Amino acid sequence: MLSRITPTPPERPPTPPGRPRFDLARVRADFPILSTTVHGKPLVYLDNGATTQKPRAVIERLQHYYRHENANIHRGIHTLSKQATLAYEAARRTVQQFLNAAEPAEIIFTRGTTESINLVAASWGRAFLRPGDEVIVSGMEHHSNIVPWQLACQASGAALRVIPVNDAGELMMDEYQRMLSPRTRMVSIVHISNSLGTINDVKTIAKLAHAVGARVLIDGAQHVAHRPTDVRDLDCDFYAFSGHKLFGPTGIGVLWGRRELLEAMPPYQGGGDMIESVTFEKTTYAQLPNKFEAGTPHIAGVLGLAAAIEYLQSLGFDSFADHEADLLAYGTQRLAEVPGLRIVGQARHKACIFSFVLEDPPVSTFDIAMWLDGDGIAVRTGHHCCQPLMDRLGIAGTARASLSLYNTREEIDALVASLKRLCSAAPRTRQVHAGGQTALVFPEPAADSPAAAAADLIEAFEFLGDWDQRYAYLLELARKLPPMPPELKTEATRVHGCQSTVHLYSRKRPGTTDGFDFLADSDAELVRGLIAVLQRVFAGQPAGQIVAFDVDDFFRKLGLEDHLTLGRRNGLQAMVRRIKSLAAAMLKPGGEAVSS
Ligand code: PMP
Repeated sequence: MLSRITPTPPERPPTPPGRPRFDLARVRADFPILSTTVHGKPLVYLDNGATTQKPRAVIERLQHYYRHENANIHRGIHTLSKQATLAYEAARRTVQQFLNAAEPAEIIFTRGTTESINLVAASWGRAFLRPGDEVIVSGMEHHSNIVPWQLACQASGAALRVIPVNDAGELMMDEYQRMLSPRTRMVSIVHISNSLGTINDVKTIAKLAHAVGARVLIDGAQHVAHRPTDVRDLDCDFYAFSGHKLFGPTGIGVLWGRRELLEAMPPYQGGGDMIESVTFEKTTYAQLPNKFEAGTPHIAGVLGLAAAIEYLQSLGFDSFADHEADLLAYGTQRLAEVPGLRIVGQARHKACIFSFVLEDPPVSTFDIAMWLDGDGIAVRTGHHCCQPLMDRLGIAGTARASLSLYNTREEIDALVASLKRLCSAAPRTRQVHAGGQTALVFPEPAADSPAAAAADLIEAFEFLGDWDQRYAYLLELARKLPPMPPELKTEATRVHGCQSTVHLYSRKRPGTTDGFDFLADSDAELVRGLIAVLQRVFAGQPAGQIVAFDVDDFFRKLGLEDHLTLGRRNGLQAMVRRIKSLAAAMLKPGGEAVSS
């Protein structure tokens, strides 16, 4: 037993003289959703890294546009169109000032960070990347700052290089310096890591990159809502962010780029609004920024984004900097009280993001999130679109509480209290299915055929009715899942493509020519429940019938689809693919359904 001394929570810092006072209660009142309840409990929204909530000023701005100003921009001479155009271009100036960009023409409206990075990787990459060039990203990038560069490298013959991350979740700057060379054409780096909260020294990164003649893109998705962003002070070349992580609408984002670079780049997409003149022989393009804004843009989104920026500016970054620092210090200290909790990512410079795992007793991050949701607490789990980082840290994923200026110490208390209750409940759940038994016992077929077994399950699920009852039933099935001996949990039996760790082992059923036996296990209770469902349908059944079975139709009829996250659905499909391919292998002459 670990003995723990309950630490004294740090004192709330007094507001330094001259700083605007931060009125937390007033700010919370600006966000209508924060006073709602979830499962009868007050909402504790700690998923701000995924998206932030919207203040009334933003919601009302969207409404006002659609009620009073709705018209297409740039093309009409009627009054409404002119008004909408003026408002749209005024919003561009708001963003320009927000980033301290040199001129509004350097602000390109996009769908979000993802599209901004894709724009640069595709357009700049096409114009400037050649075989033998190098693009540097880091080991803590979001997939949206990896995959576009992989595509650009594939298209150009350039190579992708990766700055390693240390155990604390910081970039290894020495390695970065060693990587830089005249071959380096682009360094594309996240400002604040969405999965760990690490704040990268992007100013130094940019300076070092420029010294070898490389360009620098900064992914500011997690930065803009927490600290002032000054692209000229950072001295980068491109900066990308999303409106929805800045209290603005979804579907709108920004790419800032230096004029001379944007001018040298070819258009990203073709269409209306981005041209000067079009003939079938030759098209000339519009000036910046229109060259990169093909088609009707998200006008309401742009206006909502400007409203969000104005709202944030009315508070002042200075006013809530101490509050966010206090939440980070307080949260770090309080989470240390939860037995077996390990915070992943302990960078010296960190934003208010707590990524954690429960190791003793082990509880899968999915189960953590489900449990917290029951207490009205919203956190995110999984790899956070940073699979390479999770691989580097040797974990499948984390639970992540990401805080914003409207969060409170009391919400951190609620998180800690819920986690403590989970920890005391968790060992009991585990004992039931651990059982100390490791004998190889394969389940018997549940019915005469997969179709008959599926029909029984569909009937049972229909009888159960709502999702809560079905979920409880899945957990019940999970508890009864036949144990999988630990020695079978090897890399060869690992099913990749699942958020949790899943192993699946199969064999030809003794005494049959084509019977398919399998055992599987996961560290997430819900996934164990899904495995139990698959076992009911497939265990011991003829391999040919398994291969022919329409799984999509079955899951649709079970009514699970709407309740599983995309990650879970992908994981489920990965398990089904593995089962079907093992069954198919068994049907081949001399085939054995042994997992390889
Ligand atoms: N980069 C980072 C660091 C992020 O956190 C995110 C969103 N989680 C993105 C990029 C992608 O942003 P979006 O989905 O809004 O395009």
